Amino acid sequence: MRTSASRHIRLRGNYRNMEEKLIRIVAAFVSVISLVSVFALYHFPQLRLWAEETAAFREQKSLEEDEQMTRLEILDYNMENIVEKGEGEVFSQQLRLEIPEGVKSEEVTLENNYLTQMFTITIPQADEYYLYDYPMVGRSDNIADMTYKSGEGEGVVEIQFGEVFEVESTYDGQYLYLDFLTPRELYDKVIVIDAGHGGDSSGTIKQGISEKDLDLAIALKLKEVFEEDKESKVGLYFTRTDDSNPSAEQRVSLANILQADLFISIHNNATESGRFSSISGTSVLYDGHDESLGAKHFAEICLDELTKALGSINKGLAEENETYILSEAKVPAALIEVGFMTNQQELANLNSAEYQRQAAVGIYQAIMRAFDEGY
Ligand SMILES: [Zn+2]
Repeated sequence: MRTSASRHIRLRGNYRNMEEKLIRIVAAFVSVISLVSVFALYHFPQLRLWAEETAAFREQKSLEEDEQMTRLEILDYNMENIVEKGEGEVFSQQLRLEIPEGVKSEEVTLENNYLTQMFTITIPQADEYYLYDYPMVGRSDNIADMTYKSGEGEGVVEIQFGEVFEVESTYDGQYLYLDFLTPRELYDKVIVIDAGHGGDSSGTIKQGISEKDLDLAIALKLKEVFEEDKESKVGLYFTRTDDSNPSAEQRVSLANILQADLFISIHNNATESGRFSSISGTSVLYDGHDESLGAKHFAEICLDELTKALGSINKGLAEENETYILSEAKVPAALIEVGFMTNQQELANLNSAEYQRQAAVGIYQAIMRAFDEGY
């Protein structure tokens, strides 16, 4: 009994010795580390910079996590900070981003989606700490929301506008400056062109030809016609320029948000039964819900110019009260049915590049005439 008790005491004594030893080792280790860091921080500026950046990073991270500040609030905070520090080179531009070291400006991609009013900046090599390492500064007015995501070797900043902006970008070394301009600052007139259908919505399909493709082809030809007119100060906005299918709401909102001078939707017709017939020609739909918009007269102009340019039969105007994009439009709107896909000859015409081009010229002339008439 005694022996074992004394052994216990001895063992405890050994433990105490070991603890003391361990404490001494840790203390020595800590002081060496501190000495090394103090030495390093003062002798290697890069390390000091790193320490400062880490502090800035912690500050922003705690703002985000503890204060639950949004990206926009952090932007304002950063801006106030640089103004206070006197670094606020008062830049007239809206935003300044810093591109990570080693990334070239041409590797950064910028995409402005007018339909969703979302501006996307994709930055290679930007990781989850990108905005901490390279704080963004600028003004948050005009921005409704901002998010940042990273993964797969790149970072994506998404800027949600509440309206349509044109974004002008300039680079100065590693800095990317972004300016937001309203279309009205750039153009005398603004129009929205809507190619019907798209994606899963083909519209009429006849002999392997889909209406959505004809509608888009004419819209893209119209783009060319405007590009050839070097004098033109008309801003052209498209609801689609590819095989996508925006919702009816997105299509008409684009015209409304832009407060477009004119809104034109391009479609093609078919007989009710869908059977081929001798019926052919151009017709234009409008909604007369708000006479002050002058939609009916604009539709007349379209019908007149289209039939002249195409030599097609005038199938007249049609008042439509149940076509969403027309009834929701707060701007003068017309839906053009260029021709009948259920007429063999007209289908062949509509499928030819020359006829599509003529349709585009007719629409262009209608737009110009409408402007002359005060739209
Ligand atoms: Zn259609």
